[in-house]
This record gives sequence, structure tokens and C-alpha cells, in this order.
Amino acid sequence: MSKISSDLALFNELVETLISEEEKNPVAGRIDSDELYDAIDLSLNESAMVDDEFKSVLREIVISTPKTATNLFFNQLFGGRQSKAVLGDLLAVMLNNSMYTYKVAGPQVGIEQEIIRKSCNLIGYGPTSNGTFPTGGSMSNYMAMVMARDAKDPNCRLDGMSRPMVAYTSIESHYSIAKNASFSGVGRNNIRYIQADSNGKMIPEKLEEQIIADIRVGFIPAFVNATAGTTVLGAFDPINEIADITEKYNIWLHVDGAYSGGVIFSNKYKYLVNGIERSQSFSYNAHKMLGTPLTCSIILVNDKKQLHDSFSNDADYLYQTDGDDFNLGKTSFQCGRRNDALKFWTLWKSVGTIGLKKIVDQQFELADVALEYIRSNPDYTLYSFDDSISVCFNYKDTDPMDLCTALYEHQVTVVGFGSFKENTFVRFVTINANNSKKDILNFFKVLEGFVEQNPALIKTKETTRERL
Ligand SMILES: *Cc1c(COP(=O)(O)O)cnc(C)c1O
Repeated sequence: MSKISSDLALFNELVETLISEEEKNPVAGRIDSDELYDAIDLSLNESAMVDDEFKSVLREIVISTPKTATNLFFNQLFGGRQSKAVLGDLLAVMLNNSMYTYKVAGPQVGIEQEIIRKSCNLIGYGPTSNGTFPTGGSMSNYMAMVMARDAKDPNCRLDGMSRPMVAYTSIESHYSIAKNASFSGVGRNNIRYIQADSNGKMIPEKLEEQIIADIRVGFIPAFVNATAGTTVLGAFDPINEIADITEKYNIWLHVDGAYSGGVIFSNKYKYLVNGIERSQSFSYNAHKMLGTPLTCSIILVNDKKQLHDSFSNDADYLYQTDGDDFNLGKTSFQCGRRNDALKFWTLWKSVGTIGLKKIVDQQFELADVALEYIRSNPDYTLYSFDDSISVCFNYKDTDPMDLCTALYEHQVTVVGFGSFKENTFVRFVTINANNSKKDILNFFKVLEGFVEQNPALIKTKETTRERL
């Protein structure tokens, strides 16, 4: 057997181990971080490791790594496993192309462009639209901010920032906006955090007031970020009302759909991003709502010239054949770039756009199951709203941070907490479309059973921390 064949046989064996572990122990046995290096031999040594030992250490690592594809993982804005996407990602690893040139990536270029073209059509971008696959949602937001900066002041690409620019985003938006402001030269202090209403949506009137105030003192409004699915509540900023303002003041509008931008695939929930075609850029993470393995992020721009103007650089040693439309390195941040497109394409190709719609709709249906359960049970307090797959609640008088930590430390279920205005709560994310109604109800049963066995969790919120 060739080396690669025997390693792939070992891979299959380890995958079998993983899958049976996922069934037996949906929450992996937890290794205390203080004990990690004693618990598993992670050391890198001078001499080679013999096959059997190598296999057994890999098995140990597989078993004790947190399980994100199981029906008890609700902690993050991703989860589950779409097997056709896994297949595509495994192929991408074997093919090992870099997406910068047609010479090196061949048909993979067309695969990436087809996803971009179809996505642009879905959101109503015009014939000059295009996009790229950045390393993630944070990077997508970064690229959007840089394009906004360059569109406002093309000269700053050569001379650096000469006039103070301002970026606007809701107080509920993702933290990458703040980091990106520092990277792009806008500066963290030049971000204006716009208040959100009681449902977590940006208040357009507050946005306009702030823009007027900034113009009055000589600042240059350059970038507005609207969020489609805020990280905690899953709220959708009102794009049409925000676009009325960005068009009036000639400001770049980016829609950060990293979390819930996948609604563009659903006839039923697409209305949540009404007005999206009026944005200058839009990004979504297929590794969140579309269940594709990490990472798979797509940024679309309504005018591809902007992407080219901000990110292209001539390089004779690299771009030696074919035109710009086939040499995707001309519009990416990186030089060498992993093929993140194939895994999403294999999923999309195999289930069709209809299948992607079902994946998205299923998440909202599961959220409805959770909402209904919470609303009909007086032991729960609900903090989130309809049309979000982040279901936020508290149970009895438990402190959400203590509850989530205890559930994790006891390997019961993995779920996180979040805050909105003055409240902190459990944030239960129904993003794993492989789950069924039964899995959602089971989560509540598991949680309630755990609290019953650990009554110390039900205490006034101030004292719980000391008691545990
Ligand atoms: C997850 C998320 C991001 C960041 O995406 P990464 O791929 O994790 O970098 C940005 N914005 C929102 C709203 C998100 O939920």
C-alpha cells in the first residue's frame, strides 16, 4: 500500500472512532486546561514515533476534542455536519491548489466564481458584481472597510490616511468592526456605535443624527456596517432605512451577514434582508448557517472595480497566463489561498438551492420549537425574539454564566451565555440543521434534570458564584 493509501486508511479508522464517540459521548470528556499537557502526550520529540503509538495518540486526541457536530452542542454560531460539504473539503485538501491563478487552480476558479455569481444573483446585485472568499467573517468585514476607505479617498492607498474618516455600526455588532478600524487606519476612536432598539436593531434616526454631527465638525463619514444577524440576539438591522441614509450622504454600506446572511437562500426569511441590493458589499459565512466546515466566508461587492482597486497588485512572477477574471489572486487579501469554495459547491451542487433553503428554514423551525417550549413554561424567562435562531432565556433563578459553565464542566451539554442591555442569559443556537424537534426538547430536559440534581445552582444571582 502506498503511504497515502495507508494514511487514508488510518484516517477512515479514526473517523469511525470519532463517529462512534459522537454517539456514545456527544459531549467529549473534558480535560482541565491545567492538566492538558500531562493528560495527552502532545510533545514534539527528536525521534520518530512508531506507528502504533502514533495511532493511539491520534485516537486520544480525537476522543477528547470537543464535539461540535453532535446534538448537544449549541455553544457557537456553527454546528453539525453537512456530509457533502465534508466530502468537498477533503477533496480540496487532497488537490491542494492555491486559488490565486487559473494556472494553478484550473476549474476550481470556476467553482468559486459560480458560487459568487449565484450569490450575487440571489441578492439582486448587478452585472458588474463579483466577490471573493476571505478567511472568515472578520476578514470580510475588514475588506469591506478598506474598500469603503479607498472609495472615499482613493489617494489614501498611496499616501495613507490624510483626513479623519468615521465608521458607523450598531452597538450590537461584531467586535471585528473595532479591530478592523484600527487595522485600516480609521482608528478605534472613530467608530460611532449607534444605539439599538429594544429588539437589538440599529436605530436609523440615531445613525443619521450622528452622521450630521460628524459632518458638522469636519469628519468624513466613510462606512456604515449593518448586521444581518447580530452575534448575541440574531437581530437584523433595517437595511432599507439605513440605505436611505447612506445613499443620501454617499457612504459605503456593508451588510455583515456572517451569522444569518444565509437567509438569502430562503423564500420565507429573505425578507429579513430586504434592501440588501442597495448595499455596496455583503458578506456571509457558509460555515455558519449553511453547515459547511470552517472556514467558508464569502464577500460580494456590487461593483467589482472597488475590489480590484483596493486589493490588486501586479506581480509578474505570479500572473503569467489568462485574464484577470481567472486569476483570482487579483482580488484577494492573501497571496496563497486555500480552496474554501469546493466544500460549499459540493454541498450546493448535491442538494440544490432548494436543499440550502431547507437547511436554513430548518434552523428557524427548530428555534420556533424552542420558543414555544419556553413561552409555555413559567420556569423560563425569554429574552429573544421571533425570526432569530439565537434563543435567549434564563431558567428559574439560575445564573446563566454559572449554569453554562457547570453544564460544560460536567459534560452535560455545551451552550453559552450572552448579554443584551442589562440582561445576561443563556444563548441557545439552533444552527445545526441536522437536529430534529426531539433534539431541541431533549436539550431542555437535560438542562432541567441537571439543575434538579444541582439545586445549589438555583440561588440569588449574587451568591451563586461563591457557592459553586
Ligand atoms: C461570526 C461573526 C463574525 C466573524 O466571523 P468569523 O468567520 O468568525 O471571523 C462577524 N460578524 C458576525 C455578525 C458574526 O456572527
